[in-house]
Amino acid sequence: MRPEELLHPAPEGLYCPAGDFYIDPVRPVDRALVTHGHADHARAGNNHVLATSQTLDIMRIRFGEHYARTSQIADYGKPLNINGVTVTFYPAGHVLGSAQIAVEYQGTRIVASGDYKRVADKTCAPFEPVACDVFITEATFGLPVFRHPRPADEITKLLQSLQLLPERSHIVGAYALGKAQRVISLLRQAGYDAPIYLHGALEKLCQYYQSQGVALGELRPATSETTHQKADFAGSLIIAPPAAMADRWSRRFPDPVSCYASGWMRIRQRAKQSGIELPLILSDHCDWDELTDTITELSPSQAWVTHGREEALVRWCTLNSITAKPLHLVGYEDEADI
Ligand SMILES: [Zn+2]
Repeated sequence: MRPEELLHPAPEGLYCPAGDFYIDPVRPVDRALVTHGHADHARAGNNHVLATSQTLDIMRIRFGEHYARTSQIADYGKPLNINGVTVTFYPAGHVLGSAQIAVEYQGTRIVASGDYKRVADKTCAPFEPVACDVFITEATFGLPVFRHPRPADEITKLLQSLQLLPERSHIVGAYALGKAQRVISLLRQAGYDAPIYLHGALEKLCQYYQSQGVALGELRPATSETTHQKADFAGSLIIAPPAAMADRWSRRFPDPVSCYASGWMRIRQRAKQSGIELPLILSDHCDWDELTDTITELSPSQAWVTHGREEALVRWCTLNSITAKPLHLVGYEDEADI
C-alpha cells in the first residue's frame, strides 16, 4: 500500500480511509483522533474523540462537558484497533498530554507527530522517537535562522530584570496551555520561590497541571482590583495571556515591564512592533536543529512536512536523500506559537 492511501489530507483534516478517522480535524467529523489540546488541533463538535486522558481533560476544561458525543482514552504506547488499523499514541514533548499518533496498516507505519519539541520540559512527558516509514513533521520554525537559546538562559534574563527593577512589576505574556506552566516551572527550577500572580484566564489550566503532579509552587490570582493596591504588585511577577497585556487589565500593575515568552521573539522586529520590553525566546516547538536532528535520527523513507516553513525543510530532506513533500494542511496556526 502506498502511504498516501493510508493517510492523506482532506478538507476536514488528515484522513485515514481504511480506519475511517481523521487526525486533528478542523471541521466536525464522526471519528477524530486528537494529538493535543491547543485550539488549532483540538476542536469541539466531533462525534467521537480518541485522545490521551490529559488531552480529553483539557478539552473538557476548554469546551465544557459536551465537547464531543463520546470519548475514549488512548494510553501512551498501547496499540488500539480501529476498523483493522492499528493506532498508538506516543509522547510528543509539546504540552501536557500531547501525543504523536502512529498509524499502522498492512506493514506501513506513518507517525503523525502533531506539534513536538525535543528540549527537556518538566511539564510534560518527553518526545519518544518512533521508527516509521513516513514521519509527518511540523515546521513552525523550519528555517535555519531559528535556533532557540537555552530556556534556562532566557529565564535568567527575566530574573535579572526583576532584581534590577524592584519598583516595577513584570508581566509575562504566555499562552494558557503549556507556555504559562512552562515559564512558571522554569522559574521554580531556577530557584524563584515567591508567589507568582496569574491572570484569571490561566487559573484553571494551571490548577489542572498541578493536579497532574506538575510542580508550580504558590500561585495567586492577580485579578482582584479591590483587595490589592497598585503598589502591592511592586517587584511581582504576573503571567497573563498575550492578549491581556495591551488592555485595561494591565494598568492595575505598577509601571509593568512587558515580557513575552515565544519562539517568535527570535525576530527582534516582532518584539519591537508589539512593544515588548523583554522578549523571552521560549518555544514549545522544535527549532531548526531539533527538526533536522529528529529526521536524521528516525531516518524515515519519507518525511511529510506541514504547518509552517515547509519548503526549506522539504529541501533539506531532499539534499539528505529523504523523499519529502509539503502536506499543505489548512487551518493550523503558524503565527501564534500556541
Ligand atoms: Zn500545539
